[in-house]
Amino acid sequence: MRRIDSKLPLVGTTIFTTMSALATEYNAINLGQGFPDFPMDKSLTSLVNAAMENDFNQYAPMPGLPALREAIAEKVLLCYGTLINPGTEVTITPGGTYAIYTALTTILNKGDEVIVLEPAYDSYVPNILVNGAKPVLVPLDPSNFSINWDAVRNAVSPATRAIIINSPHNPTGAILREEDIIQLTHLVEEHDLFIISDEVYEHLIFDGRPHLSMLKYPRLLQRSFVCFSFGKVYHCTGWKMGYCIAPEAMMKEFRKVHQFNCFSCHTPSQVALASYLKNPSAYLELGSFLQKKRDHFTDLMSTTRFNLLPSYGSYFICASYGRISDESAAEFAIRLTKETGVATIPVSAFYQDGFDGKLLRFCFAKKESTLETAVAKLQKI
Ligand code: PMP
Repeated sequence: MRRIDSKLPLVGTTIFTTMSALATEYNAINLGQGFPDFPMDKSLTSLVNAAMENDFNQYAPMPGLPALREAIAEKVLLCYGTLINPGTEVTITPGGTYAIYTALTTILNKGDEVIVLEPAYDSYVPNILVNGAKPVLVPLDPSNFSINWDAVRNAVSPATRAIIINSPHNPTGAILREEDIIQLTHLVEEHDLFIISDEVYEHLIFDGRPHLSMLKYPRLLQRSFVCFSFGKVYHCTGWKMGYCIAPEAMMKEFRKVHQFNCFSCHTPSQVALASYLKNPSAYLELGSFLQKKRDHFTDLMSTTRFNLLPSYGSYFICASYGRISDESAAEFAIRLTKETGVATIPVSAFYQDGFDGKLLRFCFAKKESTLETAVAKLQKI
């Protein structure tokens, strides 16, 4: 039997798998993984059913259904005031993670370096490694999860090809500020870098703050692959539908990789999304919908010994548990699942070296009753 020389020798069972398995085994309330436990809009599922019944069941064009790409271009104009070409600058992908992977595969060659800000969504580093490139890890400021631009500048080398930006940020709920945009612009122009911008939580932003998308800034957009997920916008994470926007020359190369990987995405969902996107209120009201959940969870948690950090966007809020335990975040999260019946994710899992700021990540994209039952359990410790 031939042996596989692993491209990802250090990847094992992740804490996400462990925590989900534990949550099931101990029948715990799962505030760990990031998915809603409330139903999606039935009118969108009806549109998919209708598309199937109406025989939209064969391959869609490789870059995606034209009507969907046009609807995305209209949305981009409405939200960010930017004209993009739906023919050449948008590609529909099976989810946001795939869009990020494809963008990295498009630009990376062996020995290239990519700056990754930690804590980081867990797909970035393996996506870089599998391409024979090197992730260069730069920690966010642990006090407020802002970007330490001096540290970022120090991490740049002649081999640096790109930086990955994620706002709103998983796991911390931090968001980009205008001063970050200024610093980012200087950095990428000085060193001629690409940007992979993970904006899957673009509409999950709170307290009236704007989402500073790369799509708003022509100097950034001209070097960006901007990645999105319908799963996060329409409460259907299991659909694994998303898209990538990039300038034509970059998108041309992206499509070469995409064409020989998945080729095209689920046609009935694309038909449905093309007409559902015509109703902007479904995505424009998302921020206030999730903000109510964040606020409700924050109120409930004030009756516990956890100390919540601010969350400005995303599905997530982090909490320190220093008043309860001095265990590591992983140990504490495991014990909390087994003994208290609430599953979370230790933030240390989002650092390659397991840096432990003694924080847990909670997902508040849940029904009020789920949040209330979970917090009733957390009050006991
Ligand atoms: N980026 C981040 C930061 C995420 O949290 C997620 C979802 N967990 C994704 C990308 C992936 O989105 P999708 O499910 O569409 O692949």
